[in-house]
Amino acid sequence: MHFLSALLLDYIQDHSENEPELLKELSRETYLKVIQPRMITGHFQGRVLSMLSKIINPKNILEIGTYTGYSAICLAEGLQKNGKLHTIDINEELTDFQRSYFNKSGYGHQITQHSGDALEIIPTLNMVFDLIFIDAEKREYTKYFDAVIKKTRPGSIILSDNVLWSGKVVEPLDEKDKATKALLDYNRMLKNDQRVETVLLPIRDGLTLSRVL
Ligand code: SAH
Ligand code: CA
Repeated sequence: MHFLSALLLDYIQDHSENEPELLKELSRETYLKVIQPRMITGHFQGRVLSMLSKIINPKNILEIGTYTGYSAICLAEGLQKNGKLHTIDINEELTDFQRSYFNKSGYGHQITQHSGDALEIIPTLNMVFDLIFIDAEKREYTKYFDAVIKKTRPGSIILSDNVLWSGKVVEPLDEKDKATKALLDYNRMLKNDQRVETVLLPIRDGLTLSRVL
């Protein structure tokens, strides 16, 4: 499902920052070599993540769901000079691919990769994150949120990706569709949770911005 016409999407992208060459290359290699390339962040959303990170200028970033590293590099663009990005993925096969691009990006020394289940790794990270990007298993979003909120301060920003799930959140629910059900619960939870203020932005597949109070 497209939320905006293809014409408008092209116009929006044409009037936003260009996609950096390295990220174009990362995208091409992902489509050639890795399964499910549709999961990757694209040109426009990547520039949105980069811009948000630059505005926030975080010291510590946490990403849940590295995949081939596209969004991690976009988020790292806004890090403070001595800042760090921690990124978690359960799929160990992608670690070398990610590392090669992290090193080429110039942010390699600021990025720490964690292999394993995010729900096991998050509690072991003893730091406060200024910016968190949730983009792994959709059925676990509420659990990720409960785990990461303990690692925030007032003013921390939590971004949640794919919250419109190709528009399925407003279609009749198929009870077997656990991901859509989980995202419906998650979006309602965020709206009602008194610990954060939230706006859902209709960017690509839906990107929610929650600010910790
Ligand atoms: N953020 C990436 C895309 C992430 S795709 C980008 O924008 O380019 C989702 C990723 O979440 C996949 O790589 C998958 O391996 C990972 N994932 C799924 N379940 C996970 C879990 N329980 N813990 C950590 N990572 C998980
Ligand atoms: Ca995503």
